[in-house]
Amino acid sequence: EKKIGIFKSGDGRKEEIVARLSSNENPFGPSSAAKRALKEAVEDAFLYPQKYRKELISVIAKEEGVSEDHILIGAGSSELLNAGARVFGGKSGKILAADPTYTSLIRSAEMMGSTWVKIPLDKSFDHDLDTMESKVKSDISLVYMCNPNNPTGKIIEGKEIISFCDTVSSKVPVFVDEAYWDYMDDPKGSTVTSCIKKGANVIVARTFSKVHAFAGLRVGYCIAQPDIIRQLAKEGPRNTLSGPSMNAAAASLVDYDFIRYSVEKNNEGKQYVYDLLSEMGYDYFPSHTNFILFPIAMDGDDFRKKMLVKGVSIKTWNIAGKDYCRVSMGHMKDLEKFGLAFKQVAGNKIN
Ligand code: PLP
Repeated sequence: EKKIGIFKSGDGRKEEIVARLSSNENPFGPSSAAKRALKEAVEDAFLYPQKYRKELISVIAKEEGVSEDHILIGAGSSELLNAGARVFGGKSGKILAADPTYTSLIRSAEMMGSTWVKIPLDKSFDHDLDTMESKVKSDISLVYMCNPNNPTGKIIEGKEIISFCDTVSSKVPVFVDEAYWDYMDDPKGSTVTSCIKKGANVIVARTFSKVHAFAGLRVGYCIAQPDIIRQLAKEGPRNTLSGPSMNAAAASLVDYDFIRYSVEKNNEGKQYVYDLLSEMGYDYFPSHTNFILFPIAMDGDDFRKKMLVKGVSIKTWNIAGKDYCRVSMGHMKDLEKFGLAFKQVAGNKIN
């Protein structure tokens, strides 16, 4: 049995993880083309990597249909989210965002004195766009949105988010984190990069950590107006990416066969988990990402610890007083381990 690592379960115990389904990683890559590009660039590892940086920015700009001054690359999108927090956060500004959502940018901004104006998701766990729009006042310095959203796996439809961004970005910049974008049914129709092309103050963050399986290689990018890119660059990444990672990212971005393969493997995993949950009487949120959120019928922390004892790591959330499990997709053998452990720990919801 391959052990993935040792996790502390929170009460001082150390558990060996055999199925790591807690961080929305993608075990079906990196692609062969990316690995080849990685190895080739290792030969140049003694050089500072300007050449690879230029090439990657050029490939991204071409792929996104914008000029190169609209692109900023970072060591994972986390570095760019942090830069966003430094540019738009701080004492004078509040960050408006749904709750729950991915909190990396928000937490960084809070550390600098910003506050999070939370707009709860509605009863179906969708963004309440009308309320969000109505709360955009002069004290808001940034609207942050995660589409598809983490931890729900739900999306705001392309037309709706594009119209929201068009309107709201005339008052305040809108930062849209599209980390799981590639898993959507219609990625091209769902991205808000079209707003940027119309000149709007919208920032899009993307990552290679998900569909491209680069979580350990650390590459992400932002698309925005050139003046915003310059502000983000001042506050953010300075030569933090390695040449091999950038060369591999450039190869992976246009490896459409691999992207399709990654999405297919992810869909197989989701179908397995949907079937398992339905069989056991659990509801779930159909997911547009590489993880699934579903309500559990026991205390979240207790559930997480008991799953860890069985060697399976997942994440839990308490949303509006109810406990939920978020399970990442993975190899079928790992999802089967999840299924087995879940049956032992939680049991059928309907007997
Ligand atoms: N954005 C979202 C919505 C995420 O879920 C994650 C990671 O899980 C990230 C950004 C950060 O990813 P990375 O820094 O690896 O690009």
